[in-house]
Amino acid sequence: MRIDVVSIFPSYFDGLTLSLLGRARSAGILELGVHDLRDWTSDRHRTVDDTPYGGGAGMVMKPEPWGLALDELAAASAPDRQTRPTIIFPSPAGEVFTQATARELSTRDHLVFGCGRYEGIDERVFEYAAALGEVRLISLGDYVLNGGEVATMAMIEAIGRLIPGVVGNPESLVEESHEDGLLEYPSYTKPSVWRERAVPDVLLSGNHAVIASWRREQQIERTRRRRPDLLPDDEG
Ligand code: SAM
Repeated sequence: MRIDVVSIFPSYFDGLTLSLLGRARSAGILELGVHDLRDWTSDRHRTVDDTPYGGGAGMVMKPEPWGLALDELAAASAPDRQTRPTIIFPSPAGEVFTQATARELSTRDHLVFGCGRYEGIDERVFEYAAALGEVRLISLGDYVLNGGEVATMAMIEAIGRLIPGVVGNPESLVEESHEDGLLEYPSYTKPSVWRERAVPDVLLSGNHAVIASWRREQQIERTRRRRPDLLPDDEG
């Protein structure tokens, strides 16, 4: 998979050289390009924002640099890959990002993330981008961040770990929270007693069927307590 990110703060993404995604990049499983939006400006001040038409507080990101950036990055998608990119604009006004979104996007060949700042990006950029690829406006949750960088980092991490070969043991992905609509069961490691707290006996029993059934009950109980909205109405 190829991922391109456009931001006015490219150094936010330095962390993506670390850990599993860093290793996936070195192994050639994931290609990541991080670009400074200001490289597509032509004035002396490398301006990316201007005042909003109609008035109001804050500044809006100008369409011209975004148009040039998207033209160049989408063109890079076409020749060898024969596909159009999926262009993602993080936005608090978008569809909410879930594990299902991450799974869906992990099957794409080329993702382009456009990180907004200020009051956001001129609306015409989203319309224009639809001619270059599939456009998705995606929210990390119902709150407002200062920019799209943190949301993009979170999405790249959630998507990237689902790409085959990124996580060493693929079974560990199957059992995680949200994969089957439930939260994960509690996990324990050695020692079996720590500060007078003992690991549940069932986990020391060696009986795999009983352990599996205990874990399932824990998943349902934990989901009912913490996230009843995830359960079907008859289980909630
Ligand atoms: N004026 C915008 C609104 O009310 O919808 C918010 C702009 S916000 C200060 C600046 C940028 O941060 C957005 O363009 C977007 O890229 C990013 N952002 C803020 N909250 C986000 C969220 N919950 N999910 C994804 N991106 C977010």
